[in-house]
Amino acid sequence: MTFTFEALPMRVVFGTGSLSQLAQEAERLGLKRLLVLSTPEQRALAEQAAILLGDACVGLFTGARMHVPVEVAEAARQAAREAGADGCLAIGGGSTIGLGKAIALTTGLPVIGVPTTYAGSEMTTVWGLTEDGRKRTGRDRAVLPRSVVYDPGLTIGLPVDMSVTSGFNAVAHAVEALYAPDASPIVSLMAEEGVRSLVATLPVIAADPGDMGARSDALRGAWLCGACLGATTMSLHHKLCHILGGTFDLPHAAVHTVVLPYVAAFNLPAAPAAEQALRRALATDDVPKHLARVSAELGAPRSLAELGLDEADLDEVISQALAQPYANPRPVTAQALRSLLTDALKASMCD
Ligand code: NAD
Repeated sequence: MTFTFEALPMRVVFGTGSLSQLAQEAERLGLKRLLVLSTPEQRALAEQAAILLGDACVGLFTGARMHVPVEVAEAARQAAREAGADGCLAIGGGSTIGLGKAIALTTGLPVIGVPTTYAGSEMTTVWGLTEDGRKRTGRDRAVLPRSVVYDPGLTIGLPVDMSVTSGFNAVAHAVEALYAPDASPIVSLMAEEGVRSLVATLPVIAADPGDMGARSDALRGAWLCGACLGATTMSLHHKLCHILGGTFDLPHAAVHTVVLPYVAAFNLPAAPAAEQALRRALATDDVPKHLARVSAELGAPRSLAELGLDEADLDEVISQALAQPYANPRPVTAQALRSLLTDALKASMCD
């Protein structure tokens, strides 16, 4: 066995009620003038964070949007400049954390992340920006949040449909980490446990969204899966979801949920150790079918057609997916991609 592993420098504070520690986290980092970021929908939560920060908050920017449009990033940078911010506190899902990263990318301002979904962006150095219908991504240490506060209480209000798709978004990180070219034993352990805890817990949350124990287990699983994403290079699945979200504006977490079983069916035969780990995590012999079945039973979308993709769009997806090379356990051809995407378009695994 050979591997390299590099731990990312970050601090994690986890626990119900940990939101109350925001001011201490800011102080620990020496930050005195934080701009609080959120989506318009989570403004009330941003205001709560601002109150908790007290004098260490210099303003709110509540215009975060999915996939970080460049104009939103620019407006937020300007708000940070005008407020004389020395850092940002991003409270929300991947879109809000992504906005904090976009500010950090050009200004170097440190970010405190307070995730309220299972997307996992807070654990990675990956930034993304969307311009003219194309999403660009890159890696930069400057965008990695310095401190992440995980408070399961903040996920109680995450609607069941979003909890399920966001949970499968996290599972997708772990699945691809297991067969990543830079996989390592510690990442594989995190991935297996992340998948196990999320897939076991999502049905409990669907039955009772207010179950704090389940919310805590799911968020812990999401942290593990996010850490896998941050530690490894993603493959075909993330590439496809990135194109489907960036170019066709399909909802990020739902796309991950629909596509994952089909990429797993394609890749796992070429990644036996990953398949074994997933079989253990899910207690099944058929990992792709199990993933498709659980998400469908929990009411998640089953097909790309349901999300608005048309058969005529496949050529563009395939051409973008083949345009840039990336690691994958199996060689990816146009023919294989068409077959995989057609299956996902029509939900062939759910027949
Ligand atoms: P999101 O951040 O877009 O949130 C979707 C909606 O749910 C928003 O209106 C948000 O305000 C609301 N919401 C979030 N948490 C809530 C809660 N607890 N209760 C009620 N409403 C809540 O969705 P997402 O799936 O978390 O993030 C998707 C984005 O994150 C995409 O742009 C994706 O590319 C990016 N992402 C990036 C990385 C990375 O490493 N860079 C990783 C994962 C996701």
